[in-house]
Amino acid sequence: MNAVKTSSSTSDWVQRSLHSVWHPCTQMQHHETMPLIPVSHGRGAWLFDMDGKRYLDGISSWWVNLFGHANPRINSAIKAQLDQLEHAMLAGFTHEPVIRLSEKLSGLTGGVLGHCFYASDGASATEIALKMSFHFWRNQGQHAKQEFICLKGSYHGETIGALAVTDVALFRDAYGTMIRNAHVVASPDARLALDGETSRDVARRAAADLERCLQENAGKIAAVIVEPLVQCATGFAMHDPEYLRLMRKLCDQYQVHLIADEIAVGCGRSGTFFACENAQIWPDFVCLSKGISGVRRGFLHSHSYTGNPLACSAALATLEIFESDDVLAQNRVKAAAITQALQPLAQHGQVKHFRQQGMMWAFDAVVDNDAAKTFSRRFFTRALQEELLLRPIGNTVYFMPPYIVNQEEISLVGERMLKVFNQVMGESA
Ligand SMILES: *Cc1c(COP(=O)(O)O)cnc(C)c1O
Repeated sequence: MNAVKTSSSTSDWVQRSLHSVWHPCTQMQHHETMPLIPVSHGRGAWLFDMDGKRYLDGISSWWVNLFGHANPRINSAIKAQLDQLEHAMLAGFTHEPVIRLSEKLSGLTGGVLGHCFYASDGASATEIALKMSFHFWRNQGQHAKQEFICLKGSYHGETIGALAVTDVALFRDAYGTMIRNAHVVASPDARLALDGETSRDVARRAAADLERCLQENAGKIAAVIVEPLVQCATGFAMHDPEYLRLMRKLCDQYQVHLIADEIAVGCGRSGTFFACENAQIWPDFVCLSKGISGVRRGFLHSHSYTGNPLACSAALATLEIFESDDVLAQNRVKAAAITQALQPLAQHGQVKHFRQQGMMWAFDAVVDNDAAKTFSRRFFTRALQEELLLRPIGNTVYFMPPYIVNQEEISLVGERMLKVFNQVMGESA
């Protein structure tokens, strides 16, 4: 029988990708030991590769996917908008999707935050918030207020400007001389609790460090930037909302802006729509991306696609799902089921700091330094064999599923994540 030459095989696609695509956050030599998956399509919580193998997207494709892949409601909104208006510049022009989206986002803050500014991605949302704060103080005649405060272990994006307030050595060190330094204050990471301390005590201790920094420098500080409740990129460090309340107070007292980077934790991920709502405070600026697009107040920054109608209609469709499906209430029920399914891991002898906030779960594997270096890679590879997409950060395993994950999928994740964990802990590094 003659071999029928159909499309390229999976391994052909992998080879072509390795030769032509620069993959982020992966060292090329690791692809020899770490698989590269050519994705053909996605449906709901699942991604499918070109051989038809499926993977449950346990990290929402780097935290962006709220309502599943190829969501029909969001897709049809984009398609309808595509035939109406695909793009118009926002300088001197406006359009229905951008107006409706801005009104909705402002409405979600009860009108406290009035205007939305549209960036192209999360890192530029961060930069724009920094620029707006800087600009505000200059307009007030406070020319000295040009510096920023960020938290230890903070992550606010990887453009040169956003790296200034990002305290992750891996991302920063290579570009040190290009980056402006910020003041780095203690993180309220609850894992730092000393004997007998509660997470609230850690929050108070960290707030005292912020106050010390403000006492010394407030005259030069424009803003403090924070990832409310969870510092995701540095291993899902979670903190008590008390920190945000104290931070708000200190910012008012010392006359500096509070910027909440809700790029990862916004849009219901933390349990409330904005994570700051957990602490019943409002910041001066909110950065949103990933789940949606961006909210802020407007001025001198422009990029070609600002307020793109297709992006706005996708965001509007997303917000409409929140309303029509009562997503936050549904997520509370789902979160309880997920916590239940993960109990064997929570109780596991080689797990510490099992933690949860809204639709985010994380725990740290008890591994020695050598095993820790390869833990993430080994876990990711093993998980793929069990149809799970999970990509630990160091020795921190986290689960951050799309909100549409169902009970059957939750049970599957619970069983298989435990199996993968036991396999990885059982093998030598
Ligand atoms: C992902 C992320 C960013 C950067 O967003 P990009 O769209 O990737 O530039 C900034 N801050 C936080 C908290 C993030 O999680």
